[in-house]
Amino acid sequence: MGKTRIYLDWNATAPLLDEARAAMLAALSLCGNPNSVHSEGRAARQAVEKARRQVASLVHASTANLVFTAGATEAASLVLTPDFRMGRSPLKIGRLYVSAIEHPAVRLGGRFDAASVSEIPVGRNGVVDIDALGALLDTHPAEDGLPMVAIMLANNETGVIQPVRAAAALVHAKGGLMVVDAVQAIGRMAVDIEALDADFLIVSSHKIGGPKGAGALVSRGEMLMPKPLVTGGGQEKGHRGGTENVAALAGFGAAAHHAQHDLTERNTRIAGLRDALEQHMKACAPDMVIYGADAPRLPNTIFFGLPGLKSETGQIAFDLEGMALSAGSACSSGKVGQSHVLTAMGLDPQAGGLRISLGATTTADDIDRAGAIFATVAGRRRGQGQAA
Ligand code: PLP
Repeated sequence: MGKTRIYLDWNATAPLLDEARAAMLAALSLCGNPNSVHSEGRAARQAVEKARRQVASLVHASTANLVFTAGATEAASLVLTPDFRMGRSPLKIGRLYVSAIEHPAVRLGGRFDAASVSEIPVGRNGVVDIDALGALLDTHPAEDGLPMVAIMLANNETGVIQPVRAAAALVHAKGGLMVVDAVQAIGRMAVDIEALDADFLIVSSHKIGGPKGAGALVSRGEMLMPKPLVTGGGQEKGHRGGTENVAALAGFGAAAHHAQHDLTERNTRIAGLRDALEQHMKACAPDMVIYGADAPRLPNTIFFGLPGLKSETGQIAFDLEGMALSAGSACSSGKVGQSHVLTAMGLDPQAGGLRISLGATTTADDIDRAGAIFATVAGRRRGQGQAA
């Protein structure tokens, strides 16, 4: 009674960090336009450039190669286009290959027409099928333009980490481009654009404790860039027009800085809590299935199915008990749809999928209480405990 709620939906969004809030409040007091040359403008520019250094550092990229956007969805729409430039010369991308488990921001193919997008299948363990990608690329019609492959580094529903580097080797052998949605990975594992051999990374602020509505497209170099999506005043070196949202970017930068700090220690602690919760859940409900459990996963995610409990009913049951979790991804305005990720894994999406995702401030007490709530909900499903 009177207990505070337990928030275990960090893959949907993370609570705003104190450091991000402080940086945003400071930036809100800067009255200048970061594109003005006077002192006020330069002060605002400094805040934007500090954020750029902080976000670039999180993914080991150069500050010259980062375009700020209003979130990962916009960054995806910017990079997923057939029209690129290599310096001053146009470069055509003929076809986009996206994994079947991508977030809709990527899966829908951005500015490619639907006929130019192919899907890369996924195994039952939730890992993208690299052999299938190789076969697809072998039949790529080179006369249409170069291939582009988009595979996420970690899946938002299962947390399964994807073989991005192997995919990059395949697409690079064909002279094509590798785009990696690293939204769920940053802050939860080391992310290095060079080590991943990616040409572009997509990142978002609000999954790491920054504000919503800020993100970035990070590139490996400066020469090869997509046709701008938002044109206007030439901001972001002409790659994204519009006066920068200084406060949001300052918050994003602060969150990125924080995400780097204690990365290993923080995630080791979170993995310990996650593993303990999984053990408890399996003990309470041996018929529970953890999706993607056989594959390498993010340290914070449990995507599970409980026979006899539909996603929607389950989500409401946990919510009523005081615990926020999610039925797969949370990106369609409150709708609980069927998981395209489960379908792609060859599983029955009707079986239901519920996602628990932990974060930096999740405590052992939260996990104990979550375990007790799980036992209640799982027990009730079998007709024990109180009636629904
Ligand atoms: N990519 C992944 C894997 C996500 O989980 C999300 C958000 O849920 C996005 C992209 C979209 O990010 P944003 O909300 O910044 O547009």
